[in-house]
Amino acid sequence: MAESAEEVYARVVAQVGEGGRLPMPPVEEWDIFPWEGELVPKVVGPPLDAEAPRWGEGDKPCHCATQELPDHPIWRNERWVVSTTDGPTGMPLMCFLHPVEHQDLHELDDEMAGELGQITVWLHRIMARLTNIGRVHVCKWGDGGSHLHLWFIARTARLPHILGSMAVEWNEMLPPGPEDVWRDDVRRVAAKLASHDGRALV
Ligand SMILES: [Zn+2]
Repeated sequence: MAESAEEVYARVVAQVGEGGRLPMPPVEEWDIFPWEGELVPKVVGPPLDAEAPRWGEGDKPCHCATQELPDHPIWRNERWVVSTTDGPTGMPLMCFLHPVEHQDLHELDDEMAGELGQITVWLHRIMARLTNIGRVHVCKWGDGGSHLHLWFIARTARLPHILGSMAVEWNEMLPPGPEDVWRDDVRRVAAKLASHDGRALV
């Protein structure tokens, strides 16, 4: 059994005192760490009474309550949809895979779980084969929304530091690329997915 929030918090306070800051971890020395200069960790706050509601919980409606598909869809089949961002991003392409119906990862039945694996491999392979892409990162967090969405983040080949788990942070900093290049890649991904199943929406 994992420790409760109170137990973790008590251990933090025992180390640095209430309102104290934990020491900076060695991530600052990682080659992929995006920032230089003096940084300090945020002060860890005391435990909340309950988890904050995510989109699709409590009084925060999910996108699927008002529209069939998430914003900026590029491909769909009967049960799955791939969307992208509203325009070019710092990273060359970001796509999101969602079930059409409102389900989180732990709620998928075995058939949906199998389809998730298959589409993940298709989408990863298609994005990784785009010109100038070095790698595709596949991520699932879920602290923001309760409707399952996997992130597929393509990174540019041969750029030092812009690697690994800091992809989202680098994405926020890099200047977005040209619209026509991005749109061409989006269309290519949608068309290639449609050669497996479903249909392109762009
Ligand atoms: Zn939903």
